[in-house]
Amino acid sequence: MNILLEKLKFAQFEMFPELIHAVSPRCFENDRGEIEEFSFQGNGESGKSGEHVKLFLESIGIENSSLFLVNQVHGDEIFILEDQDFACSEVRKISADALLTQLHGKPIGIFTADCLPILIYDPRLKVIGAIHAGRRGSAQSMMLKVVRKMARVYGSRPEELVAGFGPAIGGCCYEVSEDCIQPFKDLFPDEKSLFRFGLSGNYFLDLIAVNKLEGEKAGLLPENIFLMDHCTCCSTRNLYSYRREGITGRILTTIMLRP
Ligand SMILES: [Zn+2]
Repeated sequence: MNILLEKLKFAQFEMFPELIHAVSPRCFENDRGEIEEFSFQGNGESGKSGEHVKLFLESIGIENSSLFLVNQVHGDEIFILEDQDFACSEVRKISADALLTQLHGKPIGIFTADCLPILIYDPRLKVIGAIHAGRRGSAQSMMLKVVRKMARVYGSRPEELVAGFGPAIGGCCYEVSEDCIQPFKDLFPDEKSLFRFGLSGNYFLDLIAVNKLEGEKAGLLPENIFLMDHCTCCSTRNLYSYRREGITGRILTTIMLRP
């Protein structure tokens, strides 16, 4: 039996019995009792990456369902999964940075290592979403665009939506150059708290604060935005961080409507 060493979940999402969701930790205990790192990357659904995705899904209660992932490109395209028969191998080729679906039994997911993974849910209309919000996606107002799309396509009301922000690099560690800050100054000219000036001449950007503001701008209520408050780069929790490690694994953040 494989055991997750820690369960990374939003308590508020657990209150919806129709949902299964989780964020993958770095390691699990395999059936030989050894500690093993999740390795989700690689091509195709065969081999270790496919096996590890399956292991992770099974550990959170998702069995016999293939995971739907898109080809993440740090853009602002949103893919809507609406065809029951669409193969996940086909969806994998679609370049996008968010997925939405109303289909039950179809887990959707996002890979990150420092970028912010966001899960969003409309409890009235039973629409789920997974968003990849890195620096570039956030500068393109990905969160806001997803909420607007949910309103347009499904009739979602932003004030009814709940959002969970998974683990991302925090303002404590995310050092960027001045040109990276400019889009956020343009988006929120009055918000000085989104970044701070570092001694090196660079800035420290708070991606989580940016997306919280984006969510509120889109009409979400502040009390419906939940944070998993650990920095991937300096957290004592066991998470992958691109900034800290360079070549590293990925965190998988997934959500599914129960069949
Ligand atoms: Zn940090």
